[in-house]
Amino acid sequence: MTSTHAFWLAGRQATGDDTFDVTSSWDGRLVGTVSVPTDAQVEEAVAAAYAVRDEFAATPAHVRAAALDHVAKRLVERTEEIGRLISAENGKPIKWARGEVGRAASVFRFAAEEARRFNGGDAQRLDTDAGGQGRLALTRRFPRGVVLGIAPFNFPLNLCAHKVAPAIAAGAPIILKPAPATPLSGLVIGELLAETDLPAGSWSILPVPNDKMPALVQDERLPVISFTGSEKVGYAIMDSVPRKHCTLELGGNGAAVVLGDYASDADLDWAANRIATFSNYQGGQSCISVQRVIADAAVYDRLLPRVVAAVEAQVTGDPNDDKTDVGPLVSEDAAKRVESWVTEAVEAGATLLTGGVRDGASYAPTVLTDLPADVTLAHEEVFGPVLSVQKVDGEAEAFAAVNDSKYGLQAGVFTHDLQAAFRAHRALEVGGVIIGDVPSYRADQMPYGGAKQSGVGREGVRSAMEDYTYERVLVLTGL
Ligand code: NAD
Repeated sequence: MTSTHAFWLAGRQATGDDTFDVTSSWDGRLVGTVSVPTDAQVEEAVAAAYAVRDEFAATPAHVRAAALDHVAKRLVERTEEIGRLISAENGKPIKWARGEVGRAASVFRFAAEEARRFNGGDAQRLDTDAGGQGRLALTRRFPRGVVLGIAPFNFPLNLCAHKVAPAIAAGAPIILKPAPATPLSGLVIGELLAETDLPAGSWSILPVPNDKMPALVQDERLPVISFTGSEKVGYAIMDSVPRKHCTLELGGNGAAVVLGDYASDADLDWAANRIATFSNYQGGQSCISVQRVIADAAVYDRLLPRVVAAVEAQVTGDPNDDKTDVGPLVSEDAAKRVESWVTEAVEAGATLLTGGVRDGASYAPTVLTDLPADVTLAHEEVFGPVLSVQKVDGEAEAFAAVNDSKYGLQAGVFTHDLQAAFRAHRALEVGGVIIGDVPSYRADQMPYGGAKQSGVGREGVRSAMEDYTYERVLVLTGL
């Protein structure tokens, strides 16, 4: 028997007329039933956020920082319980789910720190030109207005944290919409915010159904949209509101390059283990998961068997088990889609080295080579535990292969060559280049986001705060 989870309307719990169920993709059990806000309740939340925006922007930094610190502390205290919840609704293995709680706590802690120092201020002398003599320009950043944050299912707590914490730190009210498959972790943030003194109305967490979202997206009282999710939905939102400030954190097909100098046994063991871990990390359902390995011919033959062995060593199964590396995907439909893409690739000539088996919502860690260029797997985001390995001849060919993609989120380059690292930084059309590791490395305070069709704008606490605010100049005369 599971009780109905209320949502958070202007800082207090509320329930609507309708509900939906959240089930586990591992064993099909009911994880929770979530109440859906009515249209009138959504309107109440938007009106409250809009009404409080000036008051919230003026709330002292120490008050907002203390609230953020409180949430960080409580997340740490409740790690095990919240980790179990993430694992239950998402299928994520418990060890990764605990890690996600820790990351979300860090996001709130970083936001508290940024709230204390964020000003965006600068002073610029204007007397470099005769017309500016006796004048000085000061800049500060002010919130653009209420933020509408829309989150995906794959990091159901941390990606909600990445919307909410920077908004509070910047003094911008926020309405958060968690993903329908995984709303419970996002709603937990409400429990912790409700323990703080933040003004009522400054935050709401509303599991609004997708078909009701266009009205919210169009609402003129919400000038900022911070979206993380698929390319299709993200661009449809941005195209529907071209005059709004939209941040889109979208998909990728992350590449890990292994250059010819990365050749010792220890190097190749490290690279293979990192690649195997982060192509399968939460079933490959990460936007910076390793989907492509691009290996120099000088190391390819020694790397490939190591990658296959490391992938086969991944422990699959029950997400509740501490030993499990790879649990089920978010749904059986998601696993069937991955299966169909692998089947298409193999029928078109790809070589399957391991995996390629589906069991319900679970898909076995899979490695392919000889991937034909025109199959879906070669150019779309698989969002599953599937990896292809490609041999290239030299650095220029490797970097060209990374760039041969519509996506550009992050790339990893295994090399010890500092010059090659700088060349990679210059050449790769991505939002982040990770040297000596996989593209999947993300520190939550660093600027994070995509080039090309992986998105628009940056997250990472400070970057998001800049996104939620704008620069306003104050010109002083007669100095
Ligand atoms: P999705 O696009 O299906 O859904 C994302 C969110 O959008 C959900 O909350 C969903 O309910 C909402 N949504 C759906 N239709 C909408 C509409 N018409 N208007 C407004 N909102 C709507 O994505 P998903 O399947 O939950 O997440 C997986 C995707 O997210 C992958 O493509 C992944 O790469 C991407 N992702 C990107 C990042 C990043 O930081 N770049 C991080 C994680 C996930």
